[in-house]
Amino acid sequence: MEIINRRQRMSSVVRKLRRDGSGERTIGLVPTMGALHEGHLSLVREARRRCDYVVVSIFVNPAQFGANEDFAHYPRRLTQDTAMLTDYNVDYIFAPTNDEIYPRGFSTYVNVEGLSNEFEGAARPGHFRGVTTVVALLLNIIRPDFAYFGQKDAQQTIVIKRMVRDLAIDTEIVILPIIREASGLAMSSRNASLNAEQKQAAAALYAGLQAAERAFSSGEHSAKRLSDIVRVNIAREPGVQLEYVAITDTEAMRPIEKLDNDHDALVSLAARVGATRLIDNIVLSPAKRPRTPSS
Ligand code: AMP
Repeated sequence: MEIINRRQRMSSVVRKLRRDGSGERTIGLVPTMGALHEGHLSLVREARRRCDYVVVSIFVNPAQFGANEDFAHYPRRLTQDTAMLTDYNVDYIFAPTNDEIYPRGFSTYVNVEGLSNEFEGAARPGHFRGVTTVVALLLNIIRPDFAYFGQKDAQQTIVIKRMVRDLAIDTEIVILPIIREASGLAMSSRNASLNAEQKQAAAALYAGLQAAERAFSSGEHSAKRLSDIVRVNIAREPGVQLEYVAITDTEAMRPIEKLDNDHDALVSLAARVGATRLIDNIVLSPAKRPRTPSS
């Protein structure tokens, strides 16, 4: 495994990989901000299974943090991360400095209009512009055949798929399921800033989503009533302040009023537990619902 810090070197390494050897060689990219956990590793495992070469990028991207956010305090653990990725047989870690990604005079940004301003984008102005810009750069530098992302960041997956489609970027975006702690709490690098009590309280997020899933399975179609179920359940946990719960389609995050038997619906939420902001989501699939003879 080699750790690469410079974008020029990263580009020339992958160019060679693609040319070397007989026949087609596939390259998989797993973009991360480091402080790796099982969620990230599930992406790495799948990339390893499917691709000839695996690149994991580790870059805490300043452009996706707001002025009042936790950029300075975001966990950075390159030594530990490197040890983990060695065990997973990763070929390259791309760990650039800020200057390497945003050199002096950098002035070109990628923005997916509309959806980037909704939900997470409304709560975090400029966040998705930062995400799409850095992901576009990574895809340009590495030109992977596949890039792996987690359903944990549901809106991010939708925004990135849109960008790749709109800009005709030749990479297949692969989305993998959310990995959770035993309590149901979605794994996140930010969980490290929760104390034991807060961690326990944070489990209420998934419990709320599961309550909605149960109601949906028993035939509840109303998005309003389903989101109320999430709200009421989470409100029972005083340690959690819910910011929003949204029920939307899964392609463009358009709000839904009534769920139907033909389309998946995405229930996504954000909440604060102490000073830590957490997100979670669940997909309600018609396949999970008992169908009546007439439906
Ligand atoms: P981050 O380091 O938070 O930018 O995450 C890097 C990638 O890992 C993103 O595609 C995330 O969606 C994904 N990821 C983070 N947490 C999880 C999780 N609990 N389960 C699955 N994927 C995750």
